[in-house]
Amino acid sequence: MAALRIPPGYQPRGELRYDEPMARHTSWRVGGPADTWYRPADLDDMAGFLAALPADEPVHLVGLGSNLLVRDGGIRGVVIGTHGVLSGMARHGERGLDAEAGVPCAKIARSCARWGLGAGEFFAGIPGTLGGALAMNAGAFGGETWDFVRAVETLDRAGVRRRRQRDEYSVGYRSVRSPADEWFVAAELEFPGGRPTTQASIRELLVKRNSTQPIGLPSCGSVFTNPPGDYAARLIEAAGLKGHRIGAAEVSPKHANFIINTGGATAADIEALMNHVAAEVARLHGVRLETEVRIIGEPAGPGAESAP
Ligand SMILES: Cc1cc2nc3c(=O)[nH]c(=O)nc-3n(C[C@H](O)[C@H](O)[C@H](O)COP(=O)(O)OP(=O)(O)OC[C@H]3O[C@@H](n4cnc5c(N)ncnc54)[C@H](O)[C@@H]3O)c2cc1C
Repeated sequence: MAALRIPPGYQPRGELRYDEPMARHTSWRVGGPADTWYRPADLDDMAGFLAALPADEPVHLVGLGSNLLVRDGGIRGVVIGTHGVLSGMARHGERGLDAEAGVPCAKIARSCARWGLGAGEFFAGIPGTLGGALAMNAGAFGGETWDFVRAVETLDRAGVRRRRQRDEYSVGYRSVRSPADEWFVAAELEFPGGRPTTQASIRELLVKRNSTQPIGLPSCGSVFTNPPGDYAARLIEAAGLKGHRIGAAEVSPKHANFIINTGGATAADIEALMNHVAAEVARLHGVRLETEVRIIGEPAGPGAESAP
């Protein structure tokens, strides 16, 4: 582990840990240690922490780790976790809400129901934070995060805060291009009028989701994006890969685009299974699947063993 180089006398107000196992912070429950893990006390503290770090210190942001494969050798540099800390949320006018990046999407859906805002139930189907949903343009059951964004607040590597408008971003299916190298720290969301979100519409969506996805087992949701005009799950199932295993990683028998950690899988097992699935789909269907899941970190060093 490399020691964190921060100026003498600088006192972070947040929670600082060294050699933090990333398996604790990812929904696949795999991932080696981050050299440094930081949970800021609040937005000002996060800005101050970033400004205090040497410019060449690598920094990664993590929300709920529900779209993240961290390799077994872990992450060199600093990981900043937003979940549970950047958690401010307030109603904004008749149709909107303001939320910080660490707010879980499920809470946004519930707030839409409480405040009678329109068409926000899809957020209940995304088990991540608002920050992760902004980075991914996460979507479910016809709704997509950026359809509801009016403006965002960002922080850059030097700790400078900015407000940016929706039209500064180039947004597509599970893809967001930012005008600069910055992280999302908050957003102003606006929900159209019409049919309001209700507890019943959220429940209905969750029932639909639970009937098609292996909810409750460690996964990262859909591993691959859908290719134009088709579904990754259909292609994987048609390739006969449902239930295929490498180590303790398994292509879900319930939803072929999910890979499950059946207990004790390593990141290497999961990555090997992802590569096998992509290679088989390319061989049998001639389609190149693109990975939706973000992969970060270093492979385990020599001598590390895969789970039996
Ligand atoms: C069971 C299950 C079902 C799922 N279903 C869906 C679904 O229906 N639709 C869907 O779109 N996704 C789905 N997902 C995937 C995942 O929940 C989403 O991609 C979610 O938006 C990720 O949010 P997160 O906070 O967990 O991000 P993380 O996994 O922590 O991070 C994902 C990426 O976003 C970046 N990031 C995180 N926070 C920030 C920030 N504040 N600023 C900039 N970058 C940031 C990270 O660096 C990383 O590159 C599912 C996952 C699971 C486990």
